[in-house]
Amino acid sequence: AGRVAGKKALVTGAAQGLGAAQARMLCREGAQVLLADINDELATNVANALNEEFGAAHALACHLDVTQPAQWEAAVELARDAFGGLSILVNNAGIGVRGNIETATLDDWHRGFAVNVDSVFLGCQKALGLMKDSQPGSIVNISSIAGLIASDTMPGYNASKAAVWMLSKSVALYCAKMGWDIRCNSVHPTFIDTPILDGMVASTGKAKDVIMDKLARQIPLKRVGHPDDIAYGVLYLASDESRFVTGAELKIDGGISA
Ligand code: NAD
Repeated sequence: AGRVAGKKALVTGAAQGLGAAQARMLCREGAQVLLADINDELATNVANALNEEFGAAHALACHLDVTQPAQWEAAVELARDAFGGLSILVNNAGIGVRGNIETATLDDWHRGFAVNVDSVFLGCQKALGLMKDSQPGSIVNISSIAGLIASDTMPGYNASKAAVWMLSKSVALYCAKMGWDIRCNSVHPTFIDTPILDGMVASTGKAKDVIMDKLARQIPLKRVGHPDDIAYGVLYLASDESRFVTGAELKIDGGISA
């Protein structure tokens, strides 16, 4: 039983933060989940904890640097061998991109696009073969509110997350045109309390609760998000409940973009 019972999923960046919460939600609702990350130790710990919570063979950790084509091929093969298919792909791994338009280096820019955009391009391209054999399928790409609304402080992050937004729509249209029951949508979180925010807090030199209060005041629902706030949206888009939703963007942002 469960809202994604029997489905086979791959979540990138699943060792912590949003990806770990998404992996847990999918497991809880009956999917088998490959937790793909560059942090093998953390990903293995999360997978072990999920198997303990929900019963053996639900979760499996796998090394995947999402910028590397050959590693994507190996991860998809692992899904084929271990699960016999792949029906849900969550391209969640992503990083902040340092610098404003004057201070960012070309290396910062390239690294941001490699992890935030190449990852989604490669994930969709490399997973489609197996997903075609495992229909119906759903691809969920984690963009950001920053992909829809600009800020003077993060041009690289803004541009990379906007690319994820539009790439998702193009993939959705392509799959529909090919007659495949594979949907593709993007999710756009606002500030969520994960380790990525700790990096941001550290760069201000202020205490975490001071920064969290400041962020919360900008959000109409008056709090920073919890990882499960995003995982619930991913669960909906991954499940057949969203069977008529493709090429859409789901903003999960406490009203900040309203
Ligand atoms: P996080 O830093 O807590 O976790 C990111 C995970 O991705 C880590 O486990 C890390 O090891 C992994 N990762 C990093 N580079 C990788 C690579 N090259 N290959 C594979 N895995 C890699 O971040 P998070 O807050 O959980 O963010 C997850 C996604 O949500 C990101 O795409 C981020 O841009 C997006 N997002 C986060 C927020 C937020 O406020 N937390 C808001 C909007 C969007």
